[in-house]
Amino acid sequence: MAILLPDLPYAKDALAPVISANTLEFHYGKHHKAYVDNINKLIAGGELADADLETIIEKTAGDASRAGIFNNAAQVWNHTFYWQSLSPKGGGRPAGPIAAKIDTAFGNYDKFTEELKNAGATQFGSGWAWLVLEGGQLKITKTANADTPIAHGLKPILTIDVWEHAYYLDYQNRRPDYLGAVVEKLLNWDFANRNLD
Ligand code: MN
Repeated sequence: MAILLPDLPYAKDALAPVISANTLEFHYGKHHKAYVDNINKLIAGGELADADLETIIEKTAGDASRAGIFNNAAQVWNHTFYWQSLSPKGGGRPAGPIAAKIDTAFGNYDKFTEELKNAGATQFGSGWAWLVLEGGQLKITKTANADTPIAHGLKPILTIDVWEHAYYLDYQNRRPDYLGAVVEKLLNWDFANRNLD
């Protein structure tokens, strides 16, 4: 049983102009695919050869001798979650159960967006900004490189990739502009609501 590269949930040009088809060609077609190819090579013939991604992540988290396996498995998982966190019809104020939970956790939607964008902008180097559930309460967190909330007992609700490959073709060094546009135009609140269950 190999780890598969899931289909994108939309066409490669569907997120333009916020994220271009050119970025998705490389980000999905090269970067995400490379993590899938790498993890399959790394687990082939070993005790994790038939494990699913979550199991591989759980069993290798914090194990320095298996950092390569963890990093590639977590990057496959994070990217699949990121594509689902975005929608051509997303962005703006949420509807559904997530809306009230955001007000409870952050005060209001504007404070939520400020905290999420700040987490992404202040992640030094490569990583991810996340909306997660911890003990039933929403919170913002960030992870470095391949690290993922599911390795820390947190339930991911939405994520934004802040590795340079996520935005450099479209925004060059302007990471805050990318974050602002994703929040305003692409965050998939239907996906967020489903993740609350
Ligand atoms: Mn990425």
